[in-house]
Amino acid sequence: MERASAYEIFGAPVPPPEETIDIELTETDSAENGLYTPESSAISEEEAKAAFMKYVQRHRLYGTGVVRQCTIDSIRCVDAFHYMLETFTESRSTRLVEKPFEGDTGNDDDVNDDTPKSILEPWDVSVEPHKYFEDDSAHIRVPNSEQTKSCPSCLGVCKVTCSFCGGTGSTRCLACGVEDPPSKPGENGGENGGIIEKGPCQECNGTGRKGCSPCSESGDKACSKCNEKGKLKCHVELIVQWKNNWDDFIVDYVGAVPEKVLRRLQGKIVIKDEKRKLSPLSNFPNVDINAASKELIENHHSEYSSHCKILKQRHQVRVIPISDVRYTWKNKNRNFFVFGENHDNVYAPNYPQRYLCCNVM
Ligand SMILES: [Zn+2]
Ligand SMILES: [Zn+2]
Ligand SMILES: [Zn+2]
Repeated sequence: MERASAYEIFGAPVPPPEETIDIELTETDSAENGLYTPESSAISEEEAKAAFMKYVQRHRLYGTGVVRQCTIDSIRCVDAFHYMLETFTESRSTRLVEKPFEGDTGNDDDVNDDTPKSILEPWDVSVEPHKYFEDDSAHIRVPNSEQTKSCPSCLGVCKVTCSFCGGTGSTRCLACGVEDPPSKPGENGGENGGIIEKGPCQECNGTGRKGCSPCSESGDKACSKCNEKGKLKCHVELIVQWKNNWDDFIVDYVGAVPEKVLRRLQGKIVIKDEKRKLSPLSNFPNVDINAASKELIENHHSEYSSHCKILKQRHQVRVIPISDVRYTWKNKNRNFFVFGENHDNVYAPNYPQRYLCCNVM
């Protein structure tokens, strides 16, 4: 595909060249990361009771009798999964940097020289990110893009037309506004119905025009673009932007713990992979994670590949162990949840032995 020179338009992102080499997609190897099974994160009855006791002791108004007297009926793994995808992209744009021509470079021949030089296209300039999966940017002077040219503002004469007077050297006198037609008798409701006699305007001596002070009545001003040099030194600057784009998905069938808490909780990474281009998971023992992986990878590809270059991708699945513990106390069945890698988080809705403040006093 023939691509127009990127240096005709500045500012907009330059689409990356099409991939010429097909990247071989290989599935993340689950076995390599230690295959996940629900049994692998199950907790024992003792661990469940210990976590329950810690939880109750943290609550000043909870009685510990329930924990001591209850019998555990069942422990069921209801683990939550946290899938996370990161796509590290690079985008490139250019900008023309123009500065007044200061001093002699020893080569004045290139003034008005519009002969195209061999300049590398934006995506052909070699730049490496400092670190992968971290936002960053770089500003690079494109080699061979330096040029000295006649100032387009003043066309090389170092002066520009004064914007206040339009080059005439004078402006309308605002003190008398004599250019407005004089009011006719009776029209302005004067007491005698006649023109009020007054002398010529002090400001303009009755001419209606005043000398333009910003240009000292010369009608032109020093060109600020070239700083009165008549020439500009310019070069193309390449702006490279690296961005780490991420998305995640949580599978939690119980819903006992809010998602934002689950994101913070320690879990166990059971799958982790980093590649130039990822293939969606399809063998993970949870179909919803496989579906989320497919959807997010496809979304990232369609969202970023048109205007960015995808440099690298990585994804991981974290298992956040959650156990649903059923217990009996005083012939009533209840449950609590133990979650987190170290079993130190418990959620026990409707704990049966709570005291009101006044009972304690
Ligand atoms: Zn100029
Ligand atoms: Zn002026
Ligand atoms: Zn006047």
